[in-house]
Amino acid sequence: MTTEAERDPNAGLLERLSNAYGPTGFEGPVRAIVREELATVADSLETDGVGSLIARLDGSAERPRIMLAAHMDELGLLVRRITSEGYLKFQPLGGWLDQSLINQRWVVLTRNGPVPGVTGIKTVHVMTPEDRGKVFKRDDIFIDVGARDREDAEQRLGIRPGDAIAPDSRFEAMAGGDLYLGKAWDDRAGVAVMVRVLQALREAGHPNTVYGVATVQEEVGLRGAQTSAWEVDPDVGISLESGVAADYPGITEDEAQERLGEGPGLFLHDSSMLPNNRLRDVVVDLARELDIPLQFNVLAGYGQDGSAIQRTRAGTPTVNITVPTRYLHSHNGVIHRDDVARAIRLVTELTRRLDAAAVQGLRRFD
Ligand SMILES: [Zn+2]
Repeated sequence: MTTEAERDPNAGLLERLSNAYGPTGFEGPVRAIVREELATVADSLETDGVGSLIARLDGSAERPRIMLAAHMDELGLLVRRITSEGYLKFQPLGGWLDQSLINQRWVVLTRNGPVPGVTGIKTVHVMTPEDRGKVFKRDDIFIDVGARDREDAEQRLGIRPGDAIAPDSRFEAMAGGDLYLGKAWDDRAGVAVMVRVLQALREAGHPNTVYGVATVQEEVGLRGAQTSAWEVDPDVGISLESGVAADYPGITEDEAQERLGEGPGLFLHDSSMLPNNRLRDVVVDLARELDIPLQFNVLAGYGQDGSAIQRTRAGTPTVNITVPTRYLHSHNGVIHRDDVARAIRLVTELTRRLDAAAVQGLRRFD
C-alpha cells in the first residue's frame, strides 16, 4: 500500500496549507507553516508592515531581484455583531457568492480558540413554493454557534466583534489520489508552489536574488503585494495563483480556458493586468523546451497580486502562473497534483534562467 506522501511529495504540504485557517487579515497559521518550511532555506525571513512574509534567497548575483508572490489569505467572514439571541451577523471578507454562504460549517477564531458554527436557513418544511426558489441574501444569513444569548456567546465562547470566521472544510484526496479536494486552494496552491520552488532553488543555485513572498490581504485588494513589492523593489515579478478551471458543467470555454491535469496556466489577460510580453514568451518557450504542457487563460474579470508588483515604483515585468482550480471562492475546490508538480518545475527553471542579461532583455521596449 502506497501512502499519499510516496505518491506525491507535495501532498502533505498541500494538505496542511489547505486545512490551515487564514481568512484575509488573519493569516497567522499559514504564515507559521511557510516560516517553518523556509526557515532552513532562506538567507533572511522578515515581515512587512502588514504581515506579508518575505524570504530572501541569495544566489550568485545581487541583481536581478526575482519576486515570487503567492497570497496566504482565503475568503472568510468577520463578526459584525452578536444578536441579543446569541447569533452572529457578519461582514464578508472577499468575494463570496451569497449561495455559497448558506448551510455551511464555519469556525470562529476567538482568543480562546476555534468555535464551530453553522450558517442555518429556515427549513424547507415551512417554506412557501415561492420561498423555495429564491436565493438567500447575505444580509439575512447568520451564524449559529449554539449560544443561549449574547452574553453566553461573549462570556462562555469568547466571541467578540472583529473576530475572523473561516470556512470549515477538510482536505481529501479524490479520484484515487490524482485530485485534491479542499478549501483555500486560492491561493494555498500558489503558496505550496512558491515554497517548493525556493527549496529547489536552494539545491540548484540561481544567478540572481530570489524573494519568495507569502502575501496578505489579496482578496480585498492586493494589499500585501503592494507593500511587499515596494520593500523588495523587484526587477521581475512572478505571481503564483490558482487559475480558473472551466472543465465542468455550466462554465464555458469563452469564460475560462484551463482544465485540470493539463498543466500550469499562464494568464494572457485579466482585469487587473496584462503580462510583460517578452516574459510571457520566455515562459512559453521554456515550457516547450522542458516538455511541460502549458495552458492559457484570457479572463474578462479576476485580479491578482501580479498587478500590484507590476505597478510598484517605476514598473516591473510580471507574469501570472497558475494551478488550475475548480469551484474557487467556496468551501470546496479541486486541483490536480500533476499541475502543482509541473508548475513547481516550470517556475524553478524559469527563475534559474533569469540572469542579468535575460532580465535586461525583458525591460527593452522598442
Ligand atoms: Zn487568489
